[in-house]
Amino acid sequence: MTSGGPSVAIIGGGIAGLVCAARLSQLGLTDTKVFDTGKRAPGGRCSSRFISIGGKLHVFDHAVQFFTVSDLRFAKIVSFLHSKKAVKVWPGKIVKLKKGAEPVQVKDVQAFVGTRGMQSIPETLSSLVHVEGNTWVNHVLWDAVVKKWKVDNHGWFDYLVVAHNGKCADRLMADCGAPQIHNLLRVKFGPVLSPKTDIMQLCSLWVLLMAFSKNIELCFDGAFVEHTDISWIGNNTSKYKADNDLECWTVISTRTFGAKHKVPQENIPPSKEKEVTNSLLNAFAEVTGLGRKSIMPCFTKVQLWGAANPLNVLQREDCVFQASHNVGICGDWLVSPCIEGAAVSGLALAEVIGRHVRGERRDVGLKTHLAPLEAEAIGAFPTNKSLLFNPGKP
Ligand SMILES: Cc1cc2nc3c(=O)[nH]c(=O)nc-3n(C[C@H](O)[C@H](O)[C@H](O)COP(=O)(O)OP(=O)(O)OC[C@H]3O[C@@H](n4cnc5c(N)ncnc54)[C@H](O)[C@@H]3O)c2cc1C
Repeated sequence: MTSGGPSVAIIGGGIAGLVCAARLSQLGLTDTKVFDTGKRAPGGRCSSRFISIGGKLHVFDHAVQFFTVSDLRFAKIVSFLHSKKAVKVWPGKIVKLKKGAEPVQVKDVQAFVGTRGMQSIPETLSSLVHVEGNTWVNHVLWDAVVKKWKVDNHGWFDYLVVAHNGKCADRLMADCGAPQIHNLLRVKFGPVLSPKTDIMQLCSLWVLLMAFSKNIELCFDGAFVEHTDISWIGNNTSKYKADNDLECWTVISTRTFGAKHKVPQENIPPSKEKEVTNSLLNAFAEVTGLGRKSIMPCFTKVQLWGAANPLNVLQREDCVFQASHNVGICGDWLVSPCIEGAAVSGLALAEVIGRHVRGERRDVGLKTHLAPLEAEAIGAFPTNKSLLFNPGKP
């Protein structure tokens, strides 16, 4: 890829950062680098685990389960991903599930998944841009004299994009010389939105991955669950039709369960792993009515998303940009906690930077406020019937 135009450093290679980079490149800003912590691949919360069980690799979606499309800008991205064989429609049966009640099918939802796990989405996007993987950016600084950003030991950049949230972004931007931007990145955690809160609030979610050596015979492929401990159950094997004899499921906790069992996610004590595994298996058995004794997985693994999903979003604007400091923010919590929200935010910020390069000096989103959000624990699933996907007519 040839370099062109001002340089841009994007900190975070989730969907927002990757879409932002890809659009900047289309706008001619090809001297753009995405820095991401991902050891194996970028993607952030849109990623999959490939786990060897019995000598065969099995795909588990350990965060995003499926996504929907309601925005025309995102529909174009999905068409592109479809043309690259990175996404497909998932015809799985999705239901609402409550203990002791008949499952109720969720209608009018066109569900999309990746083709080789959700991971195929960031994989395809990252092939279009320059990603510095396995890279943790610890320090950034705005130099008001030269009007450039110093990014760790990676050099100087004309623009900085913060494409992640949580404690990392709060810390990274605390003393960087852009206090207005830092103000919008301050964060707190909790399962229920504090009244009158004026800063971003994130929840934590536990995820249980499990495999069964025989079909467990549930009448659905995915379920939004009404239960104190679990909020979602999804069948990965139904999405990816793997050529194997195991059935691989993902169970995701409620926000309350996430908060109750929160520990440092990089260092989960084995006793907590055991406790969480047992609790989530019990909840799964209870809500499906299968009974704990018939739930005998041949593989289990738990994982904690400490900074899982936002409980409030910024109002009115899809991204944030401070024109005087050449710095912007994009991410799902600016629009909606889902793949569409992250992509739309990344796209919007790329457009704003493009206009700034062409001379438009306008702040975006700096004065907006955070508003409470209505969404499932695992995210939002916006729909728009007029955008039902037809692969023949992208
Ligand atoms: C358990 C769970 C289930 C979900 N289910 C769904 C679903 O079914 N459907 C749906 O649409 N959405 C779902 N979501 C929400 C969805 O995952 C997010 O909305 C979306 O992936 C957010 O993308 P993003 O780019 O804004 O942020 P992220 O994906 O968080 O990307 C940020 C990236 O920045 C990196 N980073 C952080 N700090 C640094 C640093 N200092 N230096 C370099 N890199 C850094 C991170 O490692 C990460 O890769 C789910 C989320 C969770 C946690």
